[in-house]
Amino acid sequence: MNLSRVQPSPDDNIIIPTMPKYLYIPLVLIGILLLAYPLLVFSAPPPPPSLEAKSGEVLFITVKVKGIDPVVTGEFRDRTIPFFKIDQIGRYGALIGIDLADGPVQEEVQVKAQEGSEARVVNRYRVKVRAAKFGIQELTLPNDKVDLDEETLKRVEVEQQQMLENLAGVSGERLWKGQFIIPVEGKMAGTFGLKRIINGQPRNPHSGEDIYAPEGTAVAVSNDGIVKLTGDFFFSGKSIVIDHGLGLFTLYFHLSEVRVGEGEQVSKGQIIGLVGATGRATGPHLHWGARLNGARVNPFSLVKLPLATAHAE
Ligand SMILES: [Zn+2]
Repeated sequence: MNLSRVQPSPDDNIIIPTMPKYLYIPLVLIGILLLAYPLLVFSAPPPPPSLEAKSGEVLFITVKVKGIDPVVTGEFRDRTIPFFKIDQIGRYGALIGIDLADGPVQEEVQVKAQEGSEARVVNRYRVKVRAAKFGIQELTLPNDKVDLDEETLKRVEVEQQQMLENLAGVSGERLWKGQFIIPVEGKMAGTFGLKRIINGQPRNPHSGEDIYAPEGTAVAVSNDGIVKLTGDFFFSGKSIVIDHGLGLFTLYFHLSEVRVGEGEQVSKGQIIGLVGATGRATGPHLHWGARLNGARVNPFSLVKLPLATAHAE
């Protein structure tokens, strides 16, 4: 391109109409007002940003909050969402879990900051949940694993209660750091959310994801945390629950071996057990589950989140 062609030639004359000087200032002011008019008229607050998710997914949202170490929380449906500090310039983040039975629904997440006795709304998000279309899984299992005798029923009830109590806690600080990892190398079955019919009877939906791998394959913990619960349960067999803080838990079921103890601190990638087929399982696999502030979410949704830079300083 020949740049010299766009240079004005010395012969070019810029023609300015003659106008009395005292007219310039009012004309310029009127011009500014005309340009600013749309801004003045449409200065109503913009609608809250809209987020979309499918049932069983996890959302990562960030907000900027002014103040000296405010406590930031969100409300979504019946769940309280704790925020964590990302950096020193007032960025806070949170994970929001969409339960597998949520949706279709459109609701608002209201983010509040509390400093002392004063709470203020600092942000709002609209969350549009699309209902995922989960399939149906029909299973045939030995009858004594489905039609339970009285004693086994009691055992199952106690175990389910114990599990729920352990998953209800919200520890005060975030323990996970950066991306979540897939705990075992194997074939993902895509069974999250499936409605289950066992020996012809409708049962609870499948709230985790199954990964098929040979018996004895190492199972790594998906992120940093504390071992909340271990045990040998009727349905889930040898199991581990990891608390990642702020209401997030990952679950590892049907293990052949548990290699950690309750209360132990674990770091991402650490081997916590081995793949097995204990409990009610049709063959060796890892049932990998996740709970987030009470929502049953797909753990693979955690792996996909862009969390590499969500570090607290
Ligand atoms: Zn499973």
